[in-house]
Parts: sequence; structure tokens; C-alpha cells
Amino acid sequence: MYLEENYKLVERIQGDFNISNILKKNWQTQWDNVSNTNKLKSIKPVIGKWSSSSQDKRHEEVVLTRLRVGHCNFTHVYLFKKEDKPMCCNEPVTVEHILMKCSRLRFRPSNFPLSSVPEILKNDPDSVNVVLRFLKNNKIN
Ligand SMILES: [Zn+2]
Repeated sequence: MYLEENYKLVERIQGDFNISNILKKNWQTQWDNVSNTNKLKSIKPVIGKWSSSSQDKRHEEVVLTRLRVGHCNFTHVYLFKKEDKPMCCNEPVTVEHILMKCSRLRFRPSNFPLSSVPEILKNDPDSVNVVLRFLKNNKIN
């Protein structure tokens, strides 16, 4: 009995001082201190593996990541071209506008308007596939 209790205590201490756990806790603390206005944080508040980020095609991974951080070609290319900020449907072109509001785009999944950008871009392979198909059908990349 005494040995078993000691063994459990040693396991707990080793777990507390596991370098991987310490790094994850520090990383999570830093992430917790990032402003809640951060678009990526609103989608992924807890650090860790993000299985839906891995796609068969590298281009789809790039598009998905850019959607999640809110900086896509269609939202920010104007900066490189030194043009005015693009407008659509009388509002600035944003990820939210493209995914949820734009009346010009077709093939919009029926559940998008009822949702939110963090909900649409969450770590769910089915939802991610719907987003990527929607963009592809509308020739947005
Ligand atoms: Zn629009």
C-alpha cells in the first residue's frame, strides 16, 4: 500500500514537471492573454492539435488558414496593389461578408447564415469541406 501511494505520487510529480506539459501550459497562458478580438482565437481558444487544418491539397490548407486569421487574398490584396479597400454589397469585403452576407455569391450552404464565422471555420472536417467547396464553386481562392 505504501509503495503504491509513493508510486502514484512520483507519477503525479513527473507529470507536473513534464517539459511538454509545462510548455503547453505556458503557450496556453500566452494565448489566453491575446486579445479576444483576435479572429483566430475566437475560432480556436484552446491550443492543441487541429486536425481539420490538414488538407489533401496544400492550397486548401493555405486558404483555410487565411480564412481563420481573417487575412485572405480577397480581403487584403488591395494593400499590395495600393488600391482602395474593396467593397461588396455596400460593405468592406471581409471573411464574414463572404461566408455569411454576400448576396452576390451562389451555392451558399443553407446553414451558413444562421451560424457565425468561428462556428463555420471550427475544427470540423465536414464544415471545412463545405467552406472549401463553397469558395471553389464561387471561384474564390
Ligand atoms: Zn457582397
